[in-house]
This record gives sequence, structure tokens and C-alpha cells, in this order.
Amino acid sequence: MSFKITPFTVGLLETNCYIVTADNGDIAVIDPGDDPDKILNRIRDKENVKYIFATHGHIDHVGALLAVKKNCPKAKVFLPKKDIRFSPKPKIWGVLSEVTLPTIDIKYTDLKEGKNIPFGSDQFRVIRTPGHTPGSVCLLLDHALFSGDTLFYRSLGTTQFPGGDDKMLTKSKKKLSKLPPDTIVYPGHLRETSIRMEKRAGIL
Ligand SMILES: [Zn+2]
Repeated sequence: MSFKITPFTVGLLETNCYIVTADNGDIAVIDPGDDPDKILNRIRDKENVKYIFATHGHIDHVGALLAVKKNCPKAKVFLPKKDIRFSPKPKIWGVLSEVTLPTIDIKYTDLKEGKNIPFGSDQFRVIRTPGHTPGSVCLLLDHALFSGDTLFYRSLGTTQFPGGDDKMLTKSKKKLSKLPPDTIVYPGHLRETSIRMEKRAGIL
């Protein structure tokens, strides 16, 4: 392992935001859901923020995205396009439905299946896992899986919000069950787990 993961919670829904630092000093921010100051205070050199990722478009995962991007000008912003509606004039953000983000001054990059995103001597691999939302993805960095709201400790993500789909989630679950058992899972809420533990518990 040649990177460091700093987890902490943000917002009322206690979303896990992750700051990942590569061996060359590059930084990735995953799921900046809320509390921009809390996130930015944890980043010493904002010029080193190379990526901002959203695992899906729910407001509790993207709420601080624009503020973080504003303060980290070099960061490339990745988010699943299927979850986001774009508008030149951002309106009220949907609560746990599609989120409207502004197109002004920000270029968003979609997270496509199998895409490899270089990060220090490692790389993030995009695994599309629709179900919780149409665009949900997991990000695999070596043995670490950032699972968003697709897989949690002892449960899968809910499909009860708009765009949720049980059949899709079942397919995504099968995909995740094929990952190496020692893959550590860093979910969007609550505690860490592993692929092995969730297979043993019958979740995967
Ligand atoms: Zn969600």
C-alpha cells in the first residue's frame, strides 16, 4: 500500500468523506458531502488535490463539491453523469433525488466502467454499480474499495429513493462479490468492512 486514507464524517447524515494521499503527495477527495470547512481544514496543500470524486449524486455526497473545487483549483471533478442534471442556473438541490449542479466554470468528467485513473504509483479503477442510484460507482484503489452507498457493513444500499433499482443492485452485488476477499470496503456511511466479511455474512 502506497497511499494513506483519512476518513471522517460530514453533515447531518454522517457521510464518510475520504481524503486519500498518494505516495507522490497527490490528493483525492471522495464524497465531499457537506461541511466544506471541515474538509478543507484537513488538506494542507490545496494545490495537491488532483481529484474530487462523487460515488453518486445524492446531496449528502456532493453537497460540498463546489466549495472544495473552488478552493482546490487544480482538481479534476469526477461524478457519474447519470445521477446529475446540469443547469446553467443551479436551482434548489433535490433532496436524495437527482441533484442539479451548475455547469459554470466547472468541467465534470463521467465515471465510466473500467476506467483507470492514475494516482501516484497506483490507480483508481471505476466499477459501475447501479442500483442505489442509476449512476452509482465504486472506486477500487489497490486493496481499498470506496463503495459509496452501494455496500455497507452488513447491508446493501437502499433502492427506495427515485432511480433506485433492485435488479440492478443485485447485478452490482454479484460484481462486487468477485473482488478479492481481502479488499477493504470504505463505505459512504458507518464503519469499514471487507469483501470477505460481507460474503460470510451473506450480504454479497
Ligand atoms: Zn445515497
